Amino acid sequence: MSRPVPPPAAALAALRFDNRFTRELPADPVADNPRRQVYGACYSRVLPVHTAQPRLVACSREAAALLDLTETDCRSDLFARVFSGNHLLAGMDPHAACYGGHQFGNWAGQLGDGRAINLGEAVNSRGEHWTVQLKGAGPTPYSRNADGLAVLRSSLREFLCSEAMFHLGVPTTRALSLILTGDPVERDMFYDGHPEEEPGAIVCRLAPSFIRFGNFELFAARGEFDILRQLADFTIRTYFPHLGEPSPEVYARWFDEICRATAALMVHWLRIGFVHGVMNTDNMSIHGLTIDYGPYGWLEDYDPTWTPNTTDAMGRRYCFGRQPAIAQWNLARLADALAPLVGAVEPLAQSVQDYTRHFEDGWEAMMAEKLGLAAFEPEQDRPLFRDLLRLLPEVETDMTLFYRHLALVPTAAGIPAKNRLAPLQEAFYWPEQLTIAHRGRLAAWLDRYAERVRHDHLADDERRQRMHAVNPKYVLRNYLAQLAIDKVLEGEYSLVDELLEVLRRPYDEQPGRERFAGKRPEWARHRPGCSMLSCSS
Ligand code: AMP
Ligand code: MG
Repeated sequence: MSRPVPPPAAALAALRFDNRFTRELPADPVADNPRRQVYGACYSRVLPVHTAQPRLVACSREAAALLDLTETDCRSDLFARVFSGNHLLAGMDPHAACYGGHQFGNWAGQLGDGRAINLGEAVNSRGEHWTVQLKGAGPTPYSRNADGLAVLRSSLREFLCSEAMFHLGVPTTRALSLILTGDPVERDMFYDGHPEEEPGAIVCRLAPSFIRFGNFELFAARGEFDILRQLADFTIRTYFPHLGEPSPEVYARWFDEICRATAALMVHWLRIGFVHGVMNTDNMSIHGLTIDYGPYGWLEDYDPTWTPNTTDAMGRRYCFGRQPAIAQWNLARLADALAPLVGAVEPLAQSVQDYTRHFEDGWEAMMAEKLGLAAFEPEQDRPLFRDLLRLLPEVETDMTLFYRHLALVPTAAGIPAKNRLAPLQEAFYWPEQLTIAHRGRLAAWLDRYAERVRHDHLADDERRQRMHAVNPKYVLRNYLAQLAIDKVLEGEYSLVDELLEVLRRPYDEQPGRERFAGKRPEWARHRPGCSMLSCSS
């Protein structure tokens, strides 16, 4: 006999909360919440603002399952009210976290959850805790001169990309739902004195925690060492219990784990062509998760100096190729913050230094996988990778398509150059850029590659399968998110669901959905939202 299925509202109402963060860490004693500097506390209790007419645009069934909810639960009225902040469930304890950070290389002081409100830590049937957070649910003491709200375009981008990253196998915060609030929000998208009203929206995010490098930096910078220690001890006991009871050695080992997780994350970003766009230390998760999807972008033509963020266009601090080095710089800022706890800088400095090796080892192994090699062989493979990465930016080459189609290149000995080149045609934006000289260099590289593959004695079929498992066919191309935004603005939500569906299986062929795997169309090259994004969201 099957168990009776509870009505949707009941499943949601039954969500259980165990709020360790607010229970165990010091709270801001000020209850009315003007925007201000908050001292001596890890968070402030706040209430989400009431929204006019919350309406679900989309939900992720995999994220819902983390809370033991089904898609039917997500389509209930109660769901829209709860995840827009209009209705609090029993056991929720809404709060905004206090943190600081380095922005674009400069210490920025207190930042904090200015437009994020944590509702509490839901515990699922497997005993896992998931911090439930609303982004765009109203102002907090940390909102500075902004409104605490979010608009549809940035919320939709965060919703889809979080789930796309999860399905790509990249550590990330999750997105449960995208809800239109029914309230207009004013934004000056390009900071050029032309503010416009846009539809307000709220994304519900889930993560083990939203603790950032910046949470520790703020207390260290202010000399609030007691709170620094309390937060570090809480973090280790709650999320890194395998390291043992907090002590100077354990703090150092914990930091080393963060360095390794961050290195692994950078390898993933480089594998799939993701550019975060704002790698400030307040946007770095201590769990090594991708966090805070703002002006991010996907590399289309392979250009390691590309940044999607208009604010970063001059300095290109956060461009694709610099991400691993910036992550290391950010880790060094976290090391500075933790040094008072460790009582010595050497072990921390060593971990920052070792990061280079972790990243490089991970990157080389990843590149070997991208090329379908059985294992990384330093002598042969280093020059092979280096020469490929020199070739790719010479002409406009779509990164995703190039690696996907490389899997189709025949590798038997003596095959004519044109046969090796043929499967790659799809990856180039401008056939006229493929000069005889360039084709010659590419063919020569492909010959070396084919020889290297033959040395592995791997059949082309098997190599293709291996390569297709790490080189996605479907990524959230910048223009695809923009098309979905345009549709929702017209009141049509189905493209969001369709994209979510496609992005669930990024490595599969998915016949009939090839249009989502194509090169960026020409119209998207310079359209705002497709090629450049601002932080104004
Ligand atoms: P970000 O770079 O988007 O992660 O944001 C940096 C800081 O600005 C964080 O402290 C955010 O909470 C805050 N912030 C960004 N947008 C808003 C907004 N609309 N209202 C209030 N605070 C915001
Ligand atoms: Mg942020």
